[in-house]
This record gives sequence, C-alpha cells and structure tokens, in this order.
Amino acid sequence: MNQCLSTKALPADPGPSAWREILEPGPSFAPLQADIDADWVVVGAGFAGLAAAWRLSQLVNDERIVVLEAGRVAEGPAGRNSGFMIDLPHELNSTSYAGATEKDARDIRLHRAAIDFAATMAAECQLPSGVFDRCGKVTAACAARGEQHLVDYEKHLQAMGETYETLSAQDLKEYTGIDFYTRGLFTPHAAMVQPAAFIQGVAAGLAPSVTLYECSPVTAFEPGRQGARHSLTTPQGMVRTPRVILAVNGLIQRFGYFPGRLLHVFTYASMTRALAPDEIERLGGQPNWGIIPADPMGTTVRRTSDLRGSGHRLVVRNHGTLNQSYEASSANMRRAAKLQDQAFKNRFPMLSGVEFEYRWGGRLCLSLNSVPAFGELEPGVFSACCQNGLGTVKGTLAGMMAAELATGTDSELLQSYQTFDAPKKLPPEPFLGWGANATMRWREYKAGIEL
Ligand SMILES: Cc1cc2nc3c(=O)[nH]c(=O)nc-3n(C[C@H](O)[C@H](O)[C@H](O)COP(=O)(O)OP(=O)(O)OC[C@H]3O[C@@H](n4cnc5c(N)ncnc54)[C@H](O)[C@@H]3O)c2cc1C
Repeated sequence: MNQCLSTKALPADPGPSAWREILEPGPSFAPLQADIDADWVVVGAGFAGLAAAWRLSQLVNDERIVVLEAGRVAEGPAGRNSGFMIDLPHELNSTSYAGATEKDARDIRLHRAAIDFAATMAAECQLPSGVFDRCGKVTAACAARGEQHLVDYEKHLQAMGETYETLSAQDLKEYTGIDFYTRGLFTPHAAMVQPAAFIQGVAAGLAPSVTLYECSPVTAFEPGRQGARHSLTTPQGMVRTPRVILAVNGLIQRFGYFPGRLLHVFTYASMTRALAPDEIERLGGQPNWGIIPADPMGTTVRRTSDLRGSGHRLVVRNHGTLNQSYEASSANMRRAAKLQDQAFKNRFPMLSGVEFEYRWGGRLCLSLNSVPAFGELEPGVFSACCQNGLGTVKGTLAGMMAAELATGTDSELLQSYQTFDAPKKLPPEPFLGWGANATMRWREYKAGIEL
C-alpha cells in the first residue's frame, strides 16, 4: 500500500491549448476552497475523467461525485489533440496500423462502444455539429511507401470483414483542395471532434450530482487504511472519500503507481491564423476535414471551419519525443516547428505567406505492450490511465470501465476490457531514452515526404 503520497509540481504542456484559445470563452468552474466529503472523487477532467464521472452518475444515482482538475478544463492534452476518435487498430508503435486479427476485433468492439458513449454525451449536451461528428476517417498516402502501408491495411480490414472505400488522388483533391495525396482509405465508424469544445461541452453537461473544480491540483493523496477514507489535498481545500478514480493518464506515476512501466511521449502541433476569404478560395476543398497519415510517423492534418467564431484554420501535427521527465524542452519545440513548417509548405503551396498563430505540444502515455494502466490499485483506488496515444477513445473507454469496475457493475465490455495484460516493465535509463528517441528519429526519416 502507498504511504502518504505527494505529487510534485504538475508539469505544464508547452504552448497554448490552441483549440481552446480560438473559441469564445467556455464554461468556468470554481476551485475547491473548503474541506468536504464526497462519495466519489475523480481526479482529472480529460476524456477519461469526464467519462468516468458521466458513467458513475448513471450508475450511482444521487451519490456525490467530485471531479478535481489541476488546470482549466480543456487546457491539458484532452483539449490540445487532433480530435480523431478512431475505432480501428491504431497503435503508434505499429508500422502499418495493422495488428493481430483477434486482438483487433476486441479493440474495435471496445473502441466503438466508447465512440457510441461519446456520441450519447454529445447528444445529451446538445453539442452542435463541428464539435462531435460521426463522419468516419480518411487515411491518405502521398508516396509509394505510404501507398504500400494502405494496401497492407486494406488487406487487414478485408480479413476482418470491415467496410472501407478506396479514394483516388482526385477524390482526395476534392476533399482537401490540395494535390498532395495519391491514394486514400475511408472508413466509416470514426468520429472527429473539436477537442476543446467537446471537453468543455461535456464538462458543462455533467449531471447535477457531479461537482467539478478547476485549478484544483491534487498535491497530496493519502489512501485510507482499513476502511478509512482516502484524502486528497489541493492548494485551498481537501476531499475525503471512500472511492477514487485516478484519470490523470501518465501522471498516475506521480501518485506512486506503475513505476518503471509507463512511457511519456510528447507530440506537437501548429495551427494557422484564420484564413482570409481569398485564401479560403485558393485552398478549395471541404470546409471541415482531417487526414491521418498512411505512415504512422507522418503528418496529421485538419481543417476546421468557423466554429464559435474561430475562423477557418489548418492544423498540422507530427514529431514525437520521449521525455520521461514529463517536460518537453524548447529544443523539442523548435525541431517540431521546423518539421511542421516544412510539412505545411509541402502540402499547401497556394497558402505561402500564411503563418502559424499557435504552436504547442502535449503529453501522451504509452506502455511497451500498448495496454492500459487499469484496475483497482488498492481498496477503493481505481486507475483509468495510459491511453497509448489514442486517448479520445481509449480515455473515454477507460473512464467508463473504471466507473463500472468501481461500482461492481458486471458488463460484457468490462469483462473484455479486463483481458488486457498489465503494462510491461521498461528497460532502464539511459538505454530507454536513447533507444526510443533514436527509433522515432529513424522512423521519421523513413516516413520521408509522408512527414
Ligand atoms: C498534439 C496532440 C494530438 C493528439 N491527437 C490525438 C487524436 O487525434 N486522437 C486521439 O485519440 N488522441 C490524440 N492525442 C492524445 C490525447 O490527447 C490523449 O491521449 C488524451 O488526452 C488522454 O486523455 P486522458 O483523459 O486519459 O488524459 P488527459 O487528457 O491528459 O487528462 C488528464 C487530466 O488530469 C489532470 N491532472 C493530472 N494530474 C492531476 C492532479 N494531480 N490533480 C488534478 N488533476 C490532474 C490534467 O490536468 C489533465 O487535464 C493527441 C495528443 C496531442 C498532444
């Protein structure tokens, strides 16, 4: 059992949460400023924490649920991602996104249940189109290597009986407006979100039995012993509770759990300023779209159009670095900016002169064997962490499943979710850092123009 645990200062993600910055102000929640009791505490208001709170409120009726969020809602990774909710296999450490068929069939079932859950939350919160859209996803290649990835992926989908549509260069030009892509694959069950608007909308739509406190980092956590309550201390208040769900992704290690088993990877993105009307016309294509690169180390691109006064903008994401310190350096940010400038120039020659208004990075948490850090860690303390880079879906799923496990709800989904192994032990430093960063640089180099 853990002793009284103190989380050290919470790491900040570099750069602003651009998807949040471009929106008109969203809801705000007061910090915790008293010593209180609750039936349940959820730590973290990302995809995992909000799904946990939402599912708990369905399962325990009027019991008091408190959510403690260290920063502002949608300021962290949940609000600063590319917004693809992907149902199909999508391991970042894979070479073609394809995995073993049986394992993939389980993952697809779980992922679709999570996307359905997100769709229900979006509908109940009356989120407008553009915030959550069940529009499918497009994966696209621009060179022979990426095209081969797509061909392998198609074979895998065929073997699994999944539906898909092959897209030609012309289809992709009509979709994006640009001549860059040569072959694509449309799969219908994924969703796209404006991540910050989605997270803000769900936070605002939580049941009345849930109270969310922003700017309330848990700085000390003392698990209760022999039936005593757990206590969670924040700078201006404290909560005592019999049951806690930790939904803090990689920061679960700051609570003393899963030591030596989690990888902290940063990825980076840049967003343009709002495009002028003549630039929008020169670009052409659909007003809202997204491209997942055929090579997993390639560049993800999104176009977003004028949601809540945000203007028409393009977003590019690429580059990954392992930072076991939980902090990305300014050198990491500079390298990412350089790669993103080049990726933008390669794809959007008609928009030369359009600058990036925002640049940022954010934390992912991965395990060596791509499994979640999930379960009851000690009596009444549950984990919904380690989303392996696909946290919009896997975080939602982990939150739902943690709520079911914690309330003793038996479901087929939970049984299936509990078949994952535990995260494997990592090699020691400095070999881990050297090895992982060298592998990612080599794979970025091999991605070529897909990057
Ligand atoms: C640039 C970028 C692009 C990405 N693109 C995608 C994508 O297209 N699709 C996808 O699925 N995923 C994507 N991701 C990954 C995705 O954002 C994460 O996997 C996801 O946010 C994880 O969700 P989560 O709720 O588990 O954790 P988080 O979103 O990290 O939420 C955890 C919350 O816990 C809070 N917290 C931590 N410690 C404490 C504490 N001590 N006290 C109180 N609160 C605390 C944090 O402030 C945070 O808000 C991307 C990430 C980045 C950075």
